[in-house]
Amino acid sequence: MVIRAAEDAVADMAQARAEGPASEARSETTPMSDAVDHDGPAATRLVIFGRQGAGKGTQAARLVEHYGVIHLSTGDMFRAAVADGTELGQQVGPIMESGGLVSDELTIAIVRERLAADDIVADGFVLDGFPRTPAQAEALLAMLGDGGLHAVIELEVPLDEVTNRMKARAREDDTDESIAKRLALYDTETVPTIDWFRERGLVVTVDGLGSEDEVAERMTDAIDKALAGR
Ligand code: AMP
Repeated sequence: MVIRAAEDAVADMAQARAEGPASEARSETTPMSDAVDHDGPAATRLVIFGRQGAGKGTQAARLVEHYGVIHLSTGDMFRAAVADGTELGQQVGPIMESGGLVSDELTIAIVRERLAADDIVADGFVLDGFPRTPAQAEALLAMLGDGGLHAVIELEVPLDEVTNRMKARAREDDTDESIAKRLALYDTETVPTIDWFRERGLVVTVDGLGSEDEVAERMTDAIDKALAGR
């Protein structure tokens, strides 16, 4: 069931890529396997963390521009599945609406499948919204192997600032209740996940206050330093 839903999602994404711009059309999804071979060319592999409203999506786009990596957002993958009415979408829709987390099993299966695709192996990635739990983090490092992940960016914005920003922007799954639940989950699940990476020396903390350009420059400077030591 879980695997079928993951396969559905990946098939949808492969189709979307085939219909998309030429640069994306060349990619093909490889069969599911436990280990993903990521020791090819010098592709950069990043994870970005930040509370909702911290500007994570915007800064992830800057990373795409700067490092030529592919943006992978599990939230976007799930939202696409909901919009397409797939089996996966029907499973995750109510969970997303409530502000809860999709199961680790299902989320890991989807990411594993996507990370094995040729375009991701060749160009690298910035993961956004994954991992969100320590179990997902462990699964990610197991997939990538030693040295397979280059840096984990922690975009820091104070809680009252992100709460105000989120209330100002109206996304469909944003209600006061779901915002509060997601922000609480960030502290209980995601902060321990960041700490797990911190213990492994992978975290680069970036002050997320300031203009988009200022934050982007701060972030790429810090990542370049981390990459220089890899
Ligand atoms: P996001 O756009 O990253 O905020 O994700 C939107 C929603 O998708 C979340 O509130 C969760 O319900 C679900 N989701 C996204 N990524 C994950 C993940 N890594 N683990 C569990 N649920 C996730």
